[in-house]
Amino acid sequence: MKLANTLLTNTGTTIFTVMSALAIRHQAINLGQGFPDTDGPADVVAAAAAALQDGRNQYPPLTGVPELRAAVAMANKRFYGLDIDPDTEVVVTSGATEAITAALMALIDPGDEVVLIEPLYDTYLPVVTMLGGVGRLVRLEPPHWTLPRAALEAAFGPRTKAIVLNSPMNPIGKVFTPEELGFIAGLMQKHDAYAVCDEVYEHLVFDGVQHLPLMALPGMRERTLRIGSAGKTFSLTGWKVGYISGPAALMGVVAKAHQNLTFTTPPNLQRAVAVGLAKDDAYFAGLAADLQAKRDHLVAGLETAGFRTLPSGGSYFVLADYSGLDADGDDAAFCMRLAEAAGVVAIPLSAFYVGEKPRHHVRFAFCKRISVLDEAVGRLTRYFAAGQGDGRAALTAAE
Ligand code: PMP
Ligand code: GLN
Repeated sequence: MKLANTLLTNTGTTIFTVMSALAIRHQAINLGQGFPDTDGPADVVAAAAAALQDGRNQYPPLTGVPELRAAVAMANKRFYGLDIDPDTEVVVTSGATEAITAALMALIDPGDEVVLIEPLYDTYLPVVTMLGGVGRLVRLEPPHWTLPRAALEAAFGPRTKAIVLNSPMNPIGKVFTPEELGFIAGLMQKHDAYAVCDEVYEHLVFDGVQHLPLMALPGMRERTLRIGSAGKTFSLTGWKVGYISGPAALMGVVAKAHQNLTFTTPPNLQRAVAVGLAKDDAYFAGLAADLQAKRDHLVAGLETAGFRTLPSGGSYFVLADYSGLDADGDDAAFCMRLAEAAGVVAIPLSAFYVGEKPRHHVRFAFCKRISVLDEAVGRLTRYFAAGQGDGRAALTAAE
């Protein structure tokens, strides 16, 4: 028989699914895949329940229900001063995952180059490749993750169609500075390139820093597709409602991509997300403050357990350097051991790199209840204090 699609045949199951399965198998605490362990706002959930019952259960408009498109446009204005036309400049998608694919489909022709920044989220490169595009990878390095300006400049060229920019950035928690964004904007203008901005963590920014969309910079309004996710903004990751804002000239093409991918997204969830986006400032401030407190709590615990954490300015995640606990250097093997013997799941940083793999870093998700974070830290502390060989025994003895 003829072979199925080569790229997908050779693609492994995503690390997030692999590690969540491991957590279940070993009854480990899952600080791997990024999802909160509490429900999102009750009024948003109630709005979805009510919207299931009022008879609007058939196909909604292709680009999204009017309520949500209006709410996305209003949020762009309210948070970033961006003027977006809800009728021609917003497309609602089934999660940011679809939004990323639709945005890239709208931009990329075979042979086009797309600048990607490592460590990178797992869908970017496969989608670019499926579209016949060529990923041009630029590496950020721990511990400072500074934008390597010369390397970035070298990655742009006459064939560059777009850059994918994720800020706040999964998995490292980097929030790009206005200067870095300005530098990227300059390269885009010089090379007549677009940006796909994955801003799913836009409301999860800490320490008083404000999220700045690349789209808000001079000259970027017409070159940028900005992606948000209700999953992250309302702690409802299973809902898979995303939204793209961009210039009308591009959004018509994005709508065509969406029409071939999913065509529409459940109308009830869309209407509930519209309720969510209209919530008061206290909600958005509270969301970030709550996560910041959880970050601080987990960071303190990991440091006590012997990890060296790296700064995280946004997202659900913090990276930890474990070289003081295990000099062996294979982060995937380290994560397997943590799951099996310590009873805690983390994600190896190497999973986010295509090129040379970094060593000694794992990603922990802190979007969990404080009691769960405490239990995870307790397990890690006991495991490393007991000597790693008989971690399970140490655990059992201690529990
Ligand atoms: N982009 C990034 C950087 C993410 O971390 C995630 C994870 N959920 C997504 C996109 C996908 O978002 P959604 O669940 O809305 O599809
Ligand atoms: N974005 C989530 C993470 O980084 C995972 C989403 C998924 O499992 N695809 O953990």
